[in-house]
Amino acid sequence: PPGLYIVATPIGNLGDLTMRAADVLRRAALVLAEDKRVSSRIMAHVDAHVPMRTYNDHSDSADRDAIVARLGQEAIALVSDAGTPLISDPGYKLVREARAAGHNIVTVPGACAAVAALTLAGLPTDRFLFLGFLPAKEKARADAIAEVAAIRATLVLYESGPRLAAMLTALADGLGAREGAVARELTKLHEECVTGDLRELAARYAEAPPKGEIVVVVGPPPDAEAPSLEDLDSALRAALAAGE
Ligand code: SAM
Repeated sequence: PPGLYIVATPIGNLGDLTMRAADVLRRAALVLAEDKRVSSRIMAHVDAHVPMRTYNDHSDSADRDAIVARLGQEAIALVSDAGTPLISDPGYKLVREARAAGHNIVTVPGACAAVAALTLAGLPTDRFLFLGFLPAKEKARADAIAEVAAIRATLVLYESGPRLAAMLTALADGLGAREGAVARELTKLHEECVTGDLRELAARYAEAPPKGEIVVVVGPPPDAEAPSLEDLDSALRAALAAGE
């Protein structure tokens, strides 16, 4: 059926493309890709012969209008270079405008580096906050970290190898002692997940900046010490005594 299909593609291992994604990419009238050269590998892999058009952060509202005008008659698929579109990738404005115009919007979910990293880190997953890429500049980065320091949730961030050590140091400075995990090259040959205190991790990667793609996961702030029964009992006695 016509509409906008949001199609997740692998984050490194072609085997992670879902059967449904392959089917949608073969049947679409048009595939919108962040970078046509990157996505043409996936298209060849699933033997899809469909026209492609670039849709990226530089696409403007005229580009979106032209796409939205076709959604009533055609199935148009949106893919990004890797993983799930809209997650630190273009697409949200297109979905918003397609929705406003009343079109059918279908998600074809699959790989997402943030979620993959969460499943490896061994840190709490009941509450997490995805922060995407922090600002590169030191002050803006410190401000962004300060803004989330009190939040009782696991944090998930994207970062590049050359910036990793500075980013881990900034996290340790802004958040204090917390557990962290650096998940690298997920689903690829050299997949690894290194865990440790943020400070230790910063020191480790300052020595040797890692290659490849990286997700950083940071555990929630340590629980405030719960009062013991004895403490509660003596506090209660003191309060009662004071009231007499
Ligand atoms: N939309 C993508 C997703 O669903 O994960 C993310 C796109 S964002 C532009 C690219 C960033 O995602 C990389 O810089 C890295 O932080 C992270 N990433 C993507 N693939 C990865 C992988 N295989 N291993 C670790 N991190 C990855």
